[in-house]
Amino acid sequence: MAHHRVMILGTGPAGLTAAIYAARANLVPFVVEGNEPGGQLTLTTEVENFPGFPDGILGPNLMENLRAQAARFGAHFQEGWVTRVDLSRQPFTVTVNENDTHEADAVIISTGASAKLLEIPGESEMIGHGVSTCATCDGFFFRNKRIVVVGGGDSAMEEATYLTRFASELTIVHRRSTLRASKVMQDRAHQDEKIRWALDCTPVSVRSENNQVRGLEVRDNKTGKTKIIETEGLFVSIGHRPNTEFLGGQLQLDPVGYILTNPRNSATSVKGVFACGDVMDPHYRQAVTAAGSGCRAAMDVEKYLEGAFVHDWSMALG
Ligand code: NAP
Repeated sequence: MAHHRVMILGTGPAGLTAAIYAARANLVPFVVEGNEPGGQLTLTTEVENFPGFPDGILGPNLMENLRAQAARFGAHFQEGWVTRVDLSRQPFTVTVNENDTHEADAVIISTGASAKLLEIPGESEMIGHGVSTCATCDGFFFRNKRIVVVGGGDSAMEEATYLTRFASELTIVHRRSTLRASKVMQDRAHQDEKIRWALDCTPVSVRSENNQVRGLEVRDNKTGKTKIIETEGLFVSIGHRPNTEFLGGQLQLDPVGYILTNPRNSATSVKGVFACGDVMDPHYRQAVTAAGSGCRAAMDVEKYLEGAFVHDWSMALG
């Protein structure tokens, strides 16, 4: 069985930044690429808010650059996804693609979170062509355009309120007549004159023309009739799912499934296992914050492998 000093699980900005730092610390990290190599940024087009790129950079190119940078310093990459881990004893074991098991002295988990999609016809193929799951990333591209936001939670309210600064008009589509969002967020959205409401409407399909979104077909749940809300932009804001199922309950998670870490560092509830990026961050979810947390995780691992890391889990819970 191959033995590694550190394995990094997932290759979004957090995992790849951890790989760069761990490789430069001569730890020869072994990086498992995951289900979605490069993470959520490979699903977007232009990234204009990652520092250092005054003209922006395409999401997939940014991720290729990060990967090449890590490889240059000696990180090893393996395609595939982690199906099982055993964190109950050291060295830890990590199984890739069901049957390829590796040993590691330390593990960095950076498996990210996946934005939930509506899973309706026409949606997935229009990601990056009018369908987005990130207002902060893509709102700017919809200046003076019509926008639809789907969802009735805090994220949808927040994204809709943010997006009205760009949109010519904006409609919130929600499948029930009452919102799930907190009162303060609802009030803010209700006070916004640019926002229209399509409540009790279930999304049915995404309509497009010439590879651009043109509308969202919805079914009015009261009448059963369908109609098309014309729009150039569709923001799906129905929550994220952290990719932690493979852990099988071996780390402490929050009620939604995000990994709990010590607020002062990247330690998880198991000594020698660290977490970074969206898999432990339900709040900021930005490429740059994920990259920053990847740097922290690699530095923590370096200390841990030197025997100089203080694992104080009581601090995380207190
Ligand atoms: P959420 O609270 O789970 O809300 C998801 C929304 O999407 C719900 O309204 C849900 O409808 C709808 N939805 C789910 N699946 C759907 C589907 N297949 N088709 C159509 N609609 C669907 O998720 P969130 O808004 O991302 O919030 C996640 C957590 O972060 C929450 O605890 C929230 O309070 C927190 N948050 C806080 C802030 C803030 O305070 N500033 C900002 C953002 C998020 P139903 O209501 O019918 O289930």
